[in-house]
Amino acid sequence: MICKNIGINEAGHITFAGQDVCELAKKYGTPLYLMDEQRIRENCRIYKKAMENYFDNALPAYASKAASFKRMYEIIGEEGLGVDVVSVGEIYTAMKAGYSLENAYFHSNNKTDFDVEFAIENGVGYFVVDNAEELFAIERINGGNEKKQKVLLRLTPGIDTHTYEAVNTGKVDSKFGSAIETGQAEEITKLALHMEHIELMGFHCHIGSQVFDSDTFLRSSDIMLGFAADMKKKYGYELKELSLGGGYGVRYVESDPVIDIDANIKQVSECIKATCAKYDLQVPKMIMEPGRSIVADAGMTLYSVGTIKQIPGYKNYISIDGGMTDNPRYALYGSEYTLFVANKANDTANFTADVVGRCCESDDIIQPAVNLPKPVRGDIIAVCTTGAYNYSMASNYNRVGRPAIVMLNDGKSYQAVKRESLDDLVANDL
Ligand SMILES: *Cc1c(COP(=O)(O)O)cnc(C)c1O
Repeated sequence: MICKNIGINEAGHITFAGQDVCELAKKYGTPLYLMDEQRIRENCRIYKKAMENYFDNALPAYASKAASFKRMYEIIGEEGLGVDVVSVGEIYTAMKAGYSLENAYFHSNNKTDFDVEFAIENGVGYFVVDNAEELFAIERINGGNEKKQKVLLRLTPGIDTHTYEAVNTGKVDSKFGSAIETGQAEEITKLALHMEHIELMGFHCHIGSQVFDSDTFLRSSDIMLGFAADMKKKYGYELKELSLGGGYGVRYVESDPVIDIDANIKQVSECIKATCAKYDLQVPKMIMEPGRSIVADAGMTLYSVGTIKQIPGYKNYISIDGGMTDNPRYALYGSEYTLFVANKANDTANFTADVVGRCCESDDIIQPAVNLPKPVRGDIIAVCTTGAYNYSMASNYNRVGRPAIVMLNDGKSYQAVKRESLDDLVANDL
C-alpha cells in the first residue's frame, strides 16, 4: 500500500486508519475529507524527536497553510510544535483554537499595515520579514510598544531545486525574500540591526517544497551560514536562529521514494554543526517548517461515482461528485495521486479512465488515465494522500460547497469541519 494507514478488509473495502471508508461515506456523505489523527500526531513526533535528538535547541513549526482549521492547531499545540502562518485568517484560526502564538512565525511576501497591526497586537512571536518595506512597517507600527518585535529575515540563497517551477522558491528571481547575491540581504540585515523596535533573531530560507535530495538542504545551509559569518565579521552580529524552511516530500504514488525523515535530520544536523565550526559560528536554534509531511498521508478524500462516459476509440471518463473545488492540485501542478474504487478494492483493474470533477472546466481533472476496476454509479472512489493542500486550497467555484472534514481516531470518527450548506454559500450575499 502507498501508506501504512490504508488497508483492505474482508468485505474487499478500503480501510483508512482501520475504518471501512465505504461506511464512512454512507455515514457522512460525499465528497468527504478524512483525516487520520494518530498519523498527524506521529508525523509531528518524528520531527520533534529527531530535532530534539540531533540539535541542542530546535523546533519544528508546522506550516499551517498545508491544512488550516481549528482542530489542526489544537493538535499541533498538544504536540508542542510551533506554527507558520501566512495570513491574518490563519492567525485568527490559531487563536480561536487556543493556540499560543509565541512560537508562531508570520510569513508572506506582502503584509499589509493591517496584517502587521493585527499580528503585533495579538502577540505573534516572530515575523519572517520578506523585504525592507516590511521592516519599516513593523518598526513604525511597533513604535508605541515597549517590547521589540522578534524577526527572522527571509533570504534567497539562489538555489535551483530542479523541482516543479511553481513550488521552487529559493532562486534569486523569486518573488519571495531578499537575495544574498544582489546585496539586498545584507541591506535588510543592516537596516534591521539599526531599528529600535525590532530584534533580529536570525535568517530564514525556504528553497521549495517536495525537495527529495537532502543535498539541497546541505547546500542552502552552507550559503546561509556563510552569509551569517559575513554579517558577523562586518557588523558583529551573532546569529541566534536559523530556519531552513519546508519539510520533506511525501509519497503520492508507488514510484515516489520513501523518505527517512529522522536520518535526513541527522544528516542536516551534522552538516550544520560542521558548517558552523567552519565559519566559527555558534550553532543557532534550528527551525524547520514541515507542512505537507505532517498532514499529507493523514488525509484521504472520498467521492461517489456519477456518470461514466466511454468515447469509443478515444477515452473514458469517470465523473465524481467533487473535483477541482476540493482538490485543484492536478489542475495547478499536474500532481500525481493514487486512487481506488473503495468498494471494489480486490477487483481487477481493467478500465482506464480520466477521473474528472463536475466543474465547468476541461482541466477539472483529479487524475488522468487511471487504471481501476470498472465502477458503476454510486461506487466510492478514494483518493489517497490528500491531507495537504486540498482543503486549504478548496474553493466555491461553481457555487460548490466545501466538503466536511472527518477525523478518525482509535476506531471512532468525529467532524472537525462541517460540510458547507447552500445557506453558507449565500451567507455573505447582500
Ligand atoms: C509552504 C511552505 C512551507 C511548507 O512546505 P511543505 O512542502 O508543505 O513542507 C514551509 N515554509 C514556507 C516558508 C513555505 O512557504
